[in-house]
Amino acid sequence: MRVELLCTGDELVTGLITDTNSTYLEARLFDLGVKVERVVLVGDVRPDITQALKEAASRADVVVVSGGLGPTADDFTLECAAEAAGVPLEEDAQVLDWLHQRYAARGLSPNPSALRMARVPRGSEPVRNPEGSAPLVVMKLGGAQLFFLPGVPREFKALLEGEVLPRIRATLDARPERTYRAFRLLRTVGIPESELDMAVAPMGPRHPRIVFGFRTHAPENHLKLMAEASSQSEADAALAAVEVECRQMLGTKLFGVDSEAYAAVVLETLRRAGATLAVAESCTGGLIAQQLTAVPGSSEVFIGGAVVYSEKTKSAWVGVPPDVLARHTAVSRETAQAMAEGVRDVCGTTYGLSVTGYAGPGGGTQEDPVGTVYCALSAPGVPTRCERISVTGDRDRVRLFAASHTLEMLRQHLLAAPATP
Ligand code: ATP
Ligand code: MG
Repeated sequence: MRVELLCTGDELVTGLITDTNSTYLEARLFDLGVKVERVVLVGDVRPDITQALKEAASRADVVVVSGGLGPTADDFTLECAAEAAGVPLEEDAQVLDWLHQRYAARGLSPNPSALRMARVPRGSEPVRNPEGSAPLVVMKLGGAQLFFLPGVPREFKALLEGEVLPRIRATLDARPERTYRAFRLLRTVGIPESELDMAVAPMGPRHPRIVFGFRTHAPENHLKLMAEASSQSEADAALAAVEVECRQMLGTKLFGVDSEAYAAVVLETLRRAGATLAVAESCTGGLIAQQLTAVPGSSEVFIGGAVVYSEKTKSAWVGVPPDVLARHTAVSRETAQAMAEGVRDVCGTTYGLSVTGYAGPGGGTQEDPVGTVYCALSAPGVPTRCERISVTGDRDRVRLFAASHTLEMLRQHLLAAPATP
């Protein structure tokens, strides 16, 4: 099946917004075994959109079009579609009814601009938009099926998931030479992409039905496994076999699969151990706390964090002795350890984590240049551990990897010796 995408809007060709609708759709289609053949971006110029629609329809089986369905003067994609097909725009009674219902729910009635959204090309099929006013419009142009979706990503996704992808899937399923697929995303931390690639390379010949894909999503590296076979059970079996091997190879560097997010995994590991956590952050400025509290329900195990960005707060809030700071400086093994112990003590938690370092671009010393970070873990029954890491890259990257390394010290500790409350 040949699929092309057409995204319209001046904002896409003037550097104002990034076309995320295409990347989202490409990934979803790839999961169905469809590789998008071409993506075209066109500004708000009527003849250009009309021409682009005709060209895409002449090449593709399916064209997905995004943007320009709204009520404003720069929304004229459907006019262009009508022009390309040589049919008029007509007001659709059902769309009109949906619009009235939607506005009435907010105690309003649609104004003349909004009513323009009820005008669709003759012979097309409008489909209700659960997230907005402008409907999805499905129509034929030559041999191609065209799907017109609103550009607003939330609406685009809702109509894609609810309507467009199920229709494309049904078409694919109806084909006699159907291929069955199974997927697994393996999420890792602490293993560079090149190492991951080298470890996986010898597996290829043993698993001919598997397509291996790599993606760096700093600080994580993901390995995507796709099995292809002529039946679902064969695809599932091929996937299960390669997954077992990958899990053995990755060990505890594998933190989750599919949609499992890192912070959620750390919190769940803590919860299962019946343990709690507090953090003292210097160079990460609250990044660890932010990542943890982004997960709903984190308060069950994450008690709190202190951003101790000066010597004053390092002493006053988490009890770093002034002589430790004076003797070893704020960026040192001794200070990191005192911070982890101090915050654990103040918060009365099972674990205390800390991080202090030089995020750059200025600062640093001869022994500890920019990018040097000390990460510490204070845990019951064992001496406080501190690890010194050197991160290359800009300030954002140093902070990101510092936060990740610190949390990873805790996760590895929990995997090795789960705490008993
Ligand atoms: P509206 O009813 O909001 O006018 P529309 O279908 O007319 O919807 P546009 O006006 O083209 O869509 O875009 C609406 C908003 O959606 C844009 O301001 C932009 O922020 C976002 N948007 C549009 N196209 C894309 C895209 N390809 N990727 C990501 N965001 C997009
Ligand atoms: Mg618009």
